[in-house]
Amino acid sequence: MGQIIIVLVYGIIMGFATQAIIENKGYNDNWFWWGFFFGIIALIVAAARPQCVSSIEMNRGLAEEQEKQNELKRKDGRMLQEDGWKCICGQLNASYVGTCSCGRTRADVEDIKKKKEQEQNQAGESERLKQLQQYKALLDCGALTEEEFTAKKKQLLNL
Ligand SMILES: [Zn+2]
Repeated sequence: MGQIIIVLVYGIIMGFATQAIIENKGYNDNWFWWGFFFGIIALIVAAARPQCVSSIEMNRGLAEEQEKQNELKRKDGRMLQEDGWKCICGQLNASYVGTCSCGRTRADVEDIKKKKEQEQNQAGESERLKQLQQYKALLDCGALTEEEFTAKKKQLLNL
């Protein structure tokens, strides 16, 4: 009789212990009877279970991720204000970042941007020269007066 009580008490203790472990891991399952009948084995199995991440926690994780990304976006805005630089790959980098994650250095990017600007300026320049030549031709054939030509020339050359 005494032995039965001891076994019962042991089973109940193991049942509660197993249940406590499984609840602690985030499971909603009832493991009391597993603990009650299998004792230490159920306890070990429960302890070996991976941590169950509930959907609420997962949502919280997503919200945190979202918040982090928002924070990054805000940082982008601040960075540009604080002398950050934008790589031609679209990545925004802080002023202290020398090399973009795409591998281009700030100097590279500025070179490329400068070259592009120069090319555009050159294109504009040759365009202006072409126009000037046309005006000169108009002057030569008498379609433009000297004054008109000079005015056009000043306009084109930003004099
Ligand atoms: Zn880049």
